Amino acid sequence: MRAAQGRRWTYCPSMPNLDSPLQLSPVFLPKIWGREKLEPIFKRPASFPPGELIGEVWLTASESRFMNGPIAGMTLGEASEQFGPQLNGEMWKDRRFPLLAKYIYTSDWLSVQVHPDDAQAARFNPGERGKCELWYMVSSGRKGAYLAGVKPRVTAAKLRASFEQGTSRSDLNLFHPRPGEAVFMPPGTVHALGPGLVLFEVEENSDLTYRLDDFGRKGLDGKPRPLHLEKGLAVARLDAPALRNLPVVSLKEPWGSHRFVTACGYFALEELNLQKRAVFRGRGHAVEVLSVLAGEGRIETPAGWLGFHCGDTWLIPPAAAEFRLVPREKTQLLKFYVPDVDKDFRRPLLKRGVQTSTIERIIFAE
Ligand SMILES: [Zn+2]
Repeated sequence: MRAAQGRRWTYCPSMPNLDSPLQLSPVFLPKIWGREKLEPIFKRPASFPPGELIGEVWLTASESRFMNGPIAGMTLGEASEQFGPQLNGEMWKDRRFPLLAKYIYTSDWLSVQVHPDDAQAARFNPGERGKCELWYMVSSGRKGAYLAGVKPRVTAAKLRASFEQGTSRSDLNLFHPRPGEAVFMPPGTVHALGPGLVLFEVEENSDLTYRLDDFGRKGLDGKPRPLHLEKGLAVARLDAPALRNLPVVSLKEPWGSHRFVTACGYFALEELNLQKRAVFRGRGHAVEVLSVLAGEGRIETPAGWLGFHCGDTWLIPPAAAEFRLVPREKTQLLKFYVPDVDKDFRRPLLKRGVQTSTIERIIFAE
């Protein structure tokens, strides 16, 4: 066969065609407050010695690797740096992947912490980003608890003294969550996760945390973990209310039910309960990520099909062509992305007749 004349094929290895769902590998982290068992969402990786507790499973870590498609083997950090808007979406100017999402498994209290906002982070830790986060409770055992916000009438001086003595738990609001509860945690709200919880957390891609109280415990290396009292007290908002137990705004769809959990300027979270096949495509202006919380099935693309399972993370590039999700059993997905809050969240809900007062209780954006 003769080569077509005048037609030039240029193969550019730096521009792969990112047009279908890409699976990412999870990263498991040991924590003193973690758990041995991660079922039913994940299988415990064989690389962890028996008895070692795992506390976090990062879905979109810089080290997460693509498991299929044209950039299989690359890490998310490398791909984000190399492909920028093609992978992360035009809305996101930074070369670092926009969102960090993880599952957290607790058997004990985590330290009391507070996060700075972007401006405070730039001042106290130049080059770092602040952290706004959202908790979505997957399960809560008999002891399931968390702390959020400072009790009324607790002064800054009293709080500083209890942080120094490791006794701040009694100065903070204690809550016992229910599965499905969403808790929005803006910068400045003092908080701690307690025992008995499995939760999903999505946040700005930042690890900037000011630890205020570790209850006098020792870390994995046997030494007390450092506290960051000055920075932490400088950013803590004593009057911040606990933004918890957010209303459940759920819509019926031809494929099942669709909960709009929350949206802010940094991220949006939706929950999809699939009973029948559903057709989706890339968001165009932004990347989105699907986490399979329960169920299994097939992802059908023009190029073929792939199986999906509980615990999988699927990144949907902005330019992804139409694909079908075909559940084999009841399937629960968590979907997160950097939203255009009005276009992606507020307007679709208004169009479906949800009251403005309800919508505004799950949107946190200026
Ligand atoms: Zn936090």
